[in-house]
Amino acid sequence: MDEISDEQLISMAKEAAKKAYVPYSHFHVGSAVLSEDNYVYTGCNIENSSYGATNCAERTAIFKCVSDQKTRIKKIAIASDSNEFTWPCGICRQVMSEFMNSDGIIILENHGLIKKFKLDELLPHSFGACDIKTE
Ligand SMILES: [Zn+2]
Repeated sequence: MDEISDEQLISMAKEAAKKAYVPYSHFHVGSAVLSEDNYVYTGCNIENSSYGATNCAERTAIFKCVSDQKTRIKKIAIASDSNEFTWPCGICRQVMSEFMNSDGIIILENHGLIKKFKLDELLPHSFGACDIKTE
């Protein structure tokens, strides 16, 4: 399977944002992840009347990917209907660190402008599996 371009990944994230379930904030976010074997999974944010039960678009896409037993992710694109770049929250950055290498790429899009970061830039000194002592 050919590798998908960053532009295609962004386009899929934008499409996913249209599906957001956001009756409270009306803030539509979409995400598209590219697995190590070049499959794409998209996700949107899903709100809940009990706000703590809300799930971000990034985690929705990652969990769909992982639930398909694809546990290594190369890239993730994030798009929203905001006038600003939409940065991944701390919880999503931590979830990314479980399934992405430190040089995994995070792509942010806003009105045609693109920013790219390595995970290590957005979550330096992260806590990971190597920090858990096992006997
Ligand atoms: Zn998040």
